[in-house]
Amino acid sequence: MADKRDYYEVLGVDRSASEADIKRAYRKVAKKYHPDMNPGDKVAEEKFKEASEAYEVLSDPEKRQKYDQFGHAAFEQGGTGGPGGFGGFDFSGDMGDIFGDIFGDIFGGGGRRGGSQRNGPRQGANLRAAVRITFDDAIRGVEKELNIALKETCKKCHGNGAEPGTSPENCPHCNGTGQVVYTQQSMFGTVRNVQTCPDCQGTGQFIRHKCKDCQGTGFVKVRKNIKVSIPPGIDTGQSVRIREKGEPGINGGPRGDLLVNVTVARHPKFQRQEYDIYSTEPITFAQAALGATIKIDTVDGPMDYTIRPGTQTDTKIRLKNKGVPTLRNSNVRGSHYVTLVVQVPERMTEAQKEALRAYQEAMGENSGKKDSDKNNNKGFFKKKK
Ligand SMILES: [Zn+2]
Ligand SMILES: [Zn+2]
Repeated sequence: MADKRDYYEVLGVDRSASEADIKRAYRKVAKKYHPDMNPGDKVAEEKFKEASEAYEVLSDPEKRQKYDQFGHAAFEQGGTGGPGGFGGFDFSGDMGDIFGDIFGDIFGGGGRRGGSQRNGPRQGANLRAAVRITFDDAIRGVEKELNIALKETCKKCHGNGAEPGTSPENCPHCNGTGQVVYTQQSMFGTVRNVQTCPDCQGTGQFIRHKCKDCQGTGFVKVRKNIKVSIPPGIDTGQSVRIREKGEPGINGGPRGDLLVNVTVARHPKFQRQEYDIYSTEPITFAQAALGATIKIDTVDGPMDYTIRPGTQTDTKIRLKNKGVPTLRNSNVRGSHYVTLVVQVPERMTEAQKEALRAYQEAMGENSGKKDSDKNNNKGFFKKKK
């Protein structure tokens, strides 16, 4: 506890950062260190926990104010920093799943998880699925149907795993307790070691006549079509949580959740960065020089845009509110930045060339004809001498 890093430092924001900045910073850090992205990496796991803890405090105006005033002491257990130290929150399971916050429940899910009692009701494990959507679907939102194999309670045995007419017996190895106790001599004296019974995996039951439908597991897999509403603004790597479509709960606990990871396909013309869109639009030399009303492709379709006379190549324009809708409020959108690029024709007809030469003449430019080339060369050599 003593060497805790400053929460602002953990998220890489400054002390005056807005709530939105903090959220953005947390997303970035959490995405980088998320246990799913770094399986088995203890350092990443620690960083993820650290960032989640920092976010828990800094995203809550009241906690943030306390933290600003008292530092970490505000939250240490039995600390001096006033009421409501938040002590331990549980990061096991999917708590703090950054992607779950799409629907505003970053720290949701944890509260419903049953306690750690061995035989109390516990929520089932979360299931994961993946879906790939088009760029346009990510802008507008889309409903997808997934076909998923879900575990359901076996109808034949009602989940106890025994053939109808028989019933599970107490496990002879652990006498139905689900635990076995080993005693060991060590330098500290006798150590009692309690372990989950290896014969019954802690259920305390032994099934002599296994149900033929579920092989004694109590569950069967059933394929189901599940609708997923993917909100406008979603990006690759984010997921949508569907409550209670995961693995069945244990001892009457609720089912786990289904987390649907989304991948957004690339668009041939638009690039996306967070909620902004980038694209380039070709314009002709004449349009750039004289000004013109051109059509610009946006995610809402082509749009008229008037360019000023004398527009240079690589001019960047910003179309406000034409970017990607934000997840929080789809009426609030990012911007679309368009780079105008003046195109030089690769091939021209004789008439076009003639017109362009006339233009050159009018501009008093060197026309590029042979005799003037000579003049040029002369000039060049003259200078050299
Ligand atoms: Zn069964
Ligand atoms: Zn047993």
